[in-house]
Amino acid sequence: MTTSRTFLQQGGLLSRGFVEDHGLNHTAQFSDQSDKTNGIWHRIFLDHVDIHDRAREKNLYGPVLFQFDLNILFTLAARTEILVTRKNPVHWNERDSDSERWFRTKDELARHIRFGDFGKMLVIKTPSEKLDFPNRKALIILDDPQRKLSSGENAYTHAKNRLTTTASPVNASIERRECRKGCSCAKEYDEDTNEEIDVYFT
Ligand SMILES: [Zn+2]
Repeated sequence: MTTSRTFLQQGGLLSRGFVEDHGLNHTAQFSDQSDKTNGIWHRIFLDHVDIHDRAREKNLYGPVLFQFDLNILFTLAARTEILVTRKNPVHWNERDSDSERWFRTKDELARHIRFGDFGKMLVIKTPSEKLDFPNRKALIILDDPQRKLSSGENAYTHAKNRLTTTASPVNASIERRECRKGCSCAKEYDEDTNEEIDVYFT
């Protein structure tokens, strides 16, 4: 929620390097230090699938999912670099060569990418370190944990209101997540502590 609200205030996704350099609010991630070491701190990461939907479990990065149409890749600023990882950077080894980390050609990518392979991430560097929400609209899927915050308020309703009332140059359009049969997020959210629910949804 904290990082998502910063993205809404700024009108787009931001690299964590940009967020840190500008003193903006964000939540730390376990991969922050290794991403700095690996030289990808000033890049923006996108998954090519909805991991919660695909894995049928809670996305560990949080309950707010921003959706982008693939077409945005054709509209990015000049000098933008769009790369795709061969494996998730948290599994990179310092001895890995560039070609073990990244796909080197479009053909190679086309031959190896399969829908739903979480390790193959889009890593984008734009000159502004920002990926604007297109058409002044942010499309969001928000989890409903069926829990209350420690304040007593419903977590989903609170989070939805907070996202829609964040001062932003774009409109936030929020959809409640519909889980596939067998999704374990309800159980996972049920087992979270009150503090964890507060962190995720406020
Ligand atoms: Zn679910």
